[in-house]
Amino acid sequence: MSISIPKRLCVCLCRSQVQCLTTIWRFSRTPRLVEFFQGTLAHITDSEIDTVRIFDTTLRDGEQSPRTSFSYDEKRDIAATLDEMGTHVIEAGFPVNSDAEFESVSDIASATETTICGLARVVDTDVEAALDSGVGLVHVFVSTSDVQLADSMHASQEEAVDRAVSAVERVKDAGVEVMFSPMDATRTDGEFLSEILEAVDDAGVDWVNIPDTCGVGTPTRFARLIRKVRAHTDAQIDVHAHDDFGLATANALAGFEAGAAQAQVSVNGIGERAGNAAFEEVVMAAESLYDVDTGIDTTRITEVSRLIENASNIPVPGNKPVVGQNAFSHESGIHAAGVIENTDTFEPGVMTPEMVGAKREFVLGKHTGTHSVRKRLEESGFAPTDEEVRTVTRQIKDYGAEKERVTIDVLTRFARENGVDRKKAARSDNDDDGHDDTRPDNSNSTDSDPDHGEVRI
Ligand SMILES: [Zn+2]
Repeated sequence: MSISIPKRLCVCLCRSQVQCLTTIWRFSRTPRLVEFFQGTLAHITDSEIDTVRIFDTTLRDGEQSPRTSFSYDEKRDIAATLDEMGTHVIEAGFPVNSDAEFESVSDIASATETTICGLARVVDTDVEAALDSGVGLVHVFVSTSDVQLADSMHASQEEAVDRAVSAVERVKDAGVEVMFSPMDATRTDGEFLSEILEAVDDAGVDWVNIPDTCGVGTPTRFARLIRKVRAHTDAQIDVHAHDDFGLATANALAGFEAGAAQAQVSVNGIGERAGNAAFEEVVMAAESLYDVDTGIDTTRITEVSRLIENASNIPVPGNKPVVGQNAFSHESGIHAAGVIENTDTFEPGVMTPEMVGAKREFVLGKHTGTHSVRKRLEESGFAPTDEEVRTVTRQIKDYGAEKERVTIDVLTRFARENGVDRKKAARSDNDDDGHDDTRPDNSNSTDSDPDHGEVRI
């Protein structure tokens, strides 16, 4: 986003007809860098996390979202994008589920560079289907909580242990990497969890995944659980958090802090019920807040989010972290004015829209201030006076307060009603070629529908 300085009019509040020294200094100096790590959190000098591996389950847990079904082509596109982004593991599906699912998992496994994972219950047919699909990692799981053993799996603890060990041994015998999940681990009896983890450890399991299946974990408790699990396994630890209380990302990060090497995530956080820890949140928190190089190409996060939004038919809320429409948007006067001067003023600073392939937007509406209005008028080809900017701003605020969207047409109408002059260059161009000189000049706009869209800069 470039700041254009009007040639004959100061943009600060001095109302001068020429650029004042304050404004010249303000736009010529180097903006202060964000002071996040020199502020109240300055005592944190080392990252609490060393390694962050990303296991994406958008195609498995994500597709289990109610009313979501990915087509074969969508699955291939999603897997290819995640693969190109450097995702460490992609759980492509549940091969025993259907012939179509088997085919898509198998085709994805042969078409991608990264590790492809297939899910399997601790049942022979499931494990054989996963192995036959050609995946590089088989993810076997069994219920371990009393409530799920009794009323979902209808099995005893002993049966669960026996089947888990058999499944792990079968995958290891086939020479394939294996991950074991004690499903509903956070509601499982502590002693039994230790027992089953030690049993699969003895069977040679490579990865132990600790699922917070019903989303009841809290960061401190979940971290404590992961530390305990570390004492009962030699396997690498992976975590799988659900978002029933909005804690999935926090729990995944707490898992990393406690020594997990990998987290299971889904793009846009889609998945069972309230969904999973969100790919984009976990990756950007690791990169920007913990200063860990995940190896993920974060500049494609917005692209993959839109891909999943369309394919899943689950709209991304405007206020969704990282990928929501408002994640880098500003409307209120104080915030917009600050960000126009230095984006670090009211953004995290350690995360920018460019880092995730998004654009910063300044929306005009009820909360708008004069800085945004002036900027948008100028980018639309007008040369407003200070008084005209204030008048148009008042009109926009009133208009926005009626829940109306401030479109380019509306902004242009307000400018014309107030007799705002067109910029010289724009006027002479239009005079010369006969074009309608009331049309806004959008050449400097970074994002807006040309004529009828909501005004965003
Ligand atoms: Zn899940």
